[in-house]
Amino acid sequence: MRQLSILTENPYTVTIQHGMLTNGLQLPDEWKSRELFLLTDRTVWRLYGEKLLGQLNGHNGSVHITEVGETAKSVTSFGKTLEAMATAGLTRDAVLLALGGGVIGDLGGFAAACYLRGIDFVQIPTTLLAAVDSSVGGKTAINLASGKNLAGAFHQPIGVLLDPAVFQTLSDRDWQSGVAEMIKTGMLFDEPLFDRLARGLHKDDEDLSELLVTCIRHKAKVVSHDEKDHGQRQLLNFGHTFGHAVEARSDYIIPHGHAVAIGMAMITKACVKRGICAEQTHSELIKALRTNGLPTETNFRLQELLPYVQRDKKMKGETMNLVLVKDPGQARLERIRDADVCAWLEDAL
Ligand code: NAD
Repeated sequence: MRQLSILTENPYTVTIQHGMLTNGLQLPDEWKSRELFLLTDRTVWRLYGEKLLGQLNGHNGSVHITEVGETAKSVTSFGKTLEAMATAGLTRDAVLLALGGGVIGDLGGFAAACYLRGIDFVQIPTTLLAAVDSSVGGKTAINLASGKNLAGAFHQPIGVLLDPAVFQTLSDRDWQSGVAEMIKTGMLFDEPLFDRLARGLHKDDEDLSELLVTCIRHKAKVVSHDEKDHGQRQLLNFGHTFGHAVEARSDYIIPHGHAVAIGMAMITKACVKRGICAEQTHSELIKALRTNGLPTETNFRLQELLPYVQRDKKMKGETMNLVLVKDPGQARLERIRDADVCAWLEDAL
């Protein structure tokens, strides 16, 4: 078992233990004595929900199962989740267990932040993407018709329980999505991590747990310095500005991590055109993404993507922040004017 501390205003622990969701789950006593509300999606419920419940020893609690995919982050689904919590009669002492990928973590975290003005929740990530990225840091959100993640809250979990054994059942597509966020971490902060991932990451690799720890440590460091996303944390948006546009324009058919892969390739291409990074950095990134089965291009045209980029929540009045990378491990934020967004996007395509 490995444990990592996340030093936010209310610190918590990420516990990594192989096999814990199906056998040997140890919930802290103070959680067990509280009412538990399990939130999960249909697929994860079928694979792990009942096994997890079985380990709670008949503990008094209720379950809400959502549909699968990004639609579970809709306003309608959010309303249904809150209603289910109210119907279950949850009090402020209850704990929501968010068992699933980034979608369930975002939905569950936001529902926990809003229900009775805030109850505790635990992240139990079951996708690689949720494990290395979304389950740590307390960003929670749902989507509006106007754009992705437009309604949300900062609400840190009281703990994260990570069982890497559950990755065995992930589809290739969802595995690759998580690898994209790990490559992002390497590009931003850690050249050796990038080099390792560039050789390809597989579910059975012996160093997987160590690589998970490395990625979570990087995220924890950034989050503990900038919990509310005022500065350094925005670096984690590398590839997301154009990636979110691709994801939304595809009507969420392209999964988040794949869209981030395309977004990283796009912004790095624009950096080459503007003399910010060397062509070699771009080609190494493309090679690393392709080796891991990830896409690096989009067929959407400038005029199709531009409205989504402009709608992105990172737009601040007349300016927005873009994350630029010079070399793996060397990234910076650049504030650009609204009027320049179109030119950046043109260079990225
Ligand atoms: P997801 O939650 O939709 O999961 C992907 C698919 O995998 C789903 O079909 C799910 O049912 C299935 N699944 C989950 N665990 C499984 C398992 N162990 N075995 C088999 N199938 C399993 O998607 P995701 O890629 O995990 O997360 C994407 C979401 O995360 C996006 O909405 C994105 O905006 C959000 N996100 C949030 C943050 C944050 O900081 N809050 C960061 C990155 C991404």
